[in-house]
This record gives sequence, structure tokens and C-alpha cells, in this order.
Amino acid sequence: MKSIYLDHSATTPLDPEVLEAMMPYFTDIYGNSSSVHSQGQQAARALEEAREKVAALLGAKPTELIFTSGGTEANNQAIITYMLNNRGKGNHIITSAVEHHAVLHTCQFLAKQGFELTVLPVNSYGEVEPDTIREALRPDTALVSIMHANNEIGTIEPIKELAAIAHEAGAVFHTDAVQTAGKIPVNVNDLGVDLLSASSHKLYGPKGIGCLYVRKGIRIGSLLHGGGHERNLRAGTVNVPGAVGFGKAAELAMQRLCSQEAPLADLAKRLIDGLLATIPNTRLTGHPERRLPGSVSVCFDYVEGESILLMLDHYGIMASSGSACTSDSLDPSHVLLAIGLPHETAHGSLRMTMGKDNTQEDVDYVLQVLPPIIHNLRAMSPLGR
Ligand SMILES: *Cc1c(COP(=O)(O)O)cnc(C)c1O
Repeated sequence: MKSIYLDHSATTPLDPEVLEAMMPYFTDIYGNSSSVHSQGQQAARALEEAREKVAALLGAKPTELIFTSGGTEANNQAIITYMLNNRGKGNHIITSAVEHHAVLHTCQFLAKQGFELTVLPVNSYGEVEPDTIREALRPDTALVSIMHANNEIGTIEPIKELAAIAHEAGAVFHTDAVQTAGKIPVNVNDLGVDLLSASSHKLYGPKGIGCLYVRKGIRIGSLLHGGGHERNLRAGTVNVPGAVGFGKAAELAMQRLCSQEAPLADLAKRLIDGLLATIPNTRLTGHPERRLPGSVSVCFDYVEGESILLMLDHYGIMASSGSACTSDSLDPSHVLLAIGLPHETAHGSLRMTMGKDNTQEDVDYVLQVLPPIIHNLRAMSPLGR
């Protein structure tokens, strides 16, 4: 049977070259990177080389990167420890309604602890409009956290502009760049951000490793307390094989960056145009142009996203509905509700996110299989009839 993976925003397969780069650090070079002996020092050198490669992908200095266990931890550390360590700057946090739960729930946690939170609305494309942030900023706003691109609907946020507005008002700017690092150019200086989160498994690296970029002079703290690893900012023996894999994945992503963006955008366009042309009552979610290359997100009226996923899986097509994290709850995705979709429409969402190995044949196969699936599901649904 065919097997077509269209869920790259949830995670990506490990690149074989990345696995190869990691292997020695599981077998021969197993030393603790904090140890003084030669095994440890070899591991420490590999760790610093990996840090240089990830830093290069983000246009950062290696000394500004902390390795974490992934995007979730990086987001938690950025937001929680910035707020705790800069109480003098204010008590107010601004974020958006379409953030990943790793940001949204972290901000809500802080709100329960007594910090003040403003959650900005977005327009129908899922964009944070500059005026909304301008109006929300207060003298006591310490931190603004807005994602670089949305994992569910692919919309790319105008981070450069938003960060500049936050800075004018004296606030620090964090962005969750987990969906963009390795897919589109991400440069901390071009974007003008102070804190940025990235994750290895979204760019063909291993799971369980990510990083937080911290601009020089920005004072954050440790989320995990213990040893003095990662310049005293992240205690715990460093995941050296993971970091080496992340480094290799970042290096490969940088090489692919220019050649991959346009073909992926073309594949997505072919799929979007095909779906809109063949399936009535279908709408694209997210911005038509300013979106992640390879990201297709649509809503079909009168069907359940979950049913579509099961049918697609039967044909060997792996996709998702809303975000992976919410797929075991019955509520429609907070992102789809934030862009103003009614509950019924949001329930019929389908996300297909393509990666470097997807082909035009894959897209054509989906276009052959999906229209009859939607047609049949609608015929069975009381709403569809
Ligand atoms: C996947 C994802 C995360 C979480 O990253 P992990 O490394 O899986 O913890 C955070 N933010 C966004 C936008 C994501 O897509």
C-alpha cells in the first residue's frame, strides 16, 4: 500500500545523514560533556560544534544559544524565567490567540500566579495586526511573545514589524520559530527578536532537543535547577547525541533552504487549487500567500476532521486535523476559532504539511482520493444531506 506522509508540521522523519552523524555519540564517544577526561572533552567539542551550526542557521552567536529538550521547554524557559527575572520591568505579558499551547498555556500559568496577560486577537488570516499590539502595550509590559509561523494554518506573522513596535514601548520580544527554522530564512537580527525558540524534530533532526536563543544582555534564568550546564541556564547532563543531530540537521537545512522553498510552495499551491476546484464548500484557512511553504490547511463544511483522517489513513495518507496536541479533545482548535470560523466549520479541518521528500505524484494521489472521501462522508452526514 502507498504511504504518503503529509504531517511534517507535527514532526519530520530523521534524515539518514543526521542519524549517521549522531551514531558515534551513542557508541564510542559517550562521555559526559562536563567531564575533564578525553572522552568528556571530545563530547564537549562536538557539543560546541553543534552549537555553532544551529547558531549559523539562526544568524546568532553560538554563545547566545542554550540547548533545551525541545520547543516546549524553550518557550517555557523564555517566558517564565524572563518574567521572574525582570520584575522591575513590569508585570504584563502580551501574546496572541493563535500561539502553540507551549506558549499560550505557559502565559496562562503565569497569569494564575499573578502576572497580567493580554491575549491579542488575530485577523481572519491568523495575522496579528500591528495596531492591536500598539494598543495593548503598556508601560508595565515586560514581554511580548508572538509566533513566527502558525503550526495549524501556516500563516507567517510580521515579526520584524511587531518586534520593532514592542521595542519602541520598551518591551522584550520572544518568538516561537519552531515552524520556521529550517523552512524559511530565520535570522534573529533581521527579525529583531530578543528570544527565539527552535526545535530539532521539525527540521529532520531527532526529537527531544531544541534551543533557546537569548540575545546578549537579555537576562533570563534557569527553569531547571541543578548543575552549571549551559552557562548556568539549563541544568542537566547535555543530550550530546541529540545536539549533534540538531547541528547536522541545521547544517543540512541551511544548504536546502534556497532550493526547497519554491518547489514546496508550488506543491502546496497545486494541492490547494485542486481541492478548491473539485470539492464544493471548501475553504482555505490561513493566509493565501504569506504562509509556510508546503503547508495546506482547509476546512470542509458538513464533515468531521477525524473521519477524514481515518479515511485518508486507510489510503495510506497521513495528515492531521487542527493541531496534533488537541486531536484527542472534542473542542475544535483554538486557532480556527480565533480566525473566526464557526464551530461546525472548524470541526471539518484538515491539515496536510509537505516536506522535502513529497512529490507531485503524492499531491495527485491526494487529489484523486480525497474528493470522493468528502463526498461520501457528506452523503452519510445529516448536515451534508
Ligand atoms: C512542535 C511545536 C512546538 C513544540 O516543540 P517540541 O520540540 O515538540 O516541544 C512549539 N511550537 C510550535 C509552533 C510547534 O509547531
